[in-house]
Amino acid sequence: MAYCDVLVGMESNWMAAGSCNEHPPSLFFPSDGVGVEVAKKICADCPSKEPCLEYALANRIDHGVWGGTSERQRRRILKARRSAAMAR
Ligand code: SF4
Repeated sequence: MAYCDVLVGMESNWMAAGSCNEHPPSLFFPSDGVGVEVAKKICADCPSKEPCLEYALANRIDHGVWGGTSERQRRRILKARRSAAMAR
């Protein structure tokens, strides 16, 4: 099963085009920093990187590497966006 198949009922074109389809889903749910870096390297050249990240942010997906970002990075992005929105 491909990583994106984990998202039952949420398929879209960008998911089908994702580089992760060629790798085991578990690779994108690493248990340590080394694993995060391995997944992020695959994401780096993925044509779906941007929509993947936005999808994860919009759906507040806490686990795994999405759009080339770790869980911690996504939390920081969301926090920065909230701060920017409040500053307007
Ligand atoms: S950015 Fe990473 S997780 Fe997202 S579709 Fe591409 S390879 Fe998969």
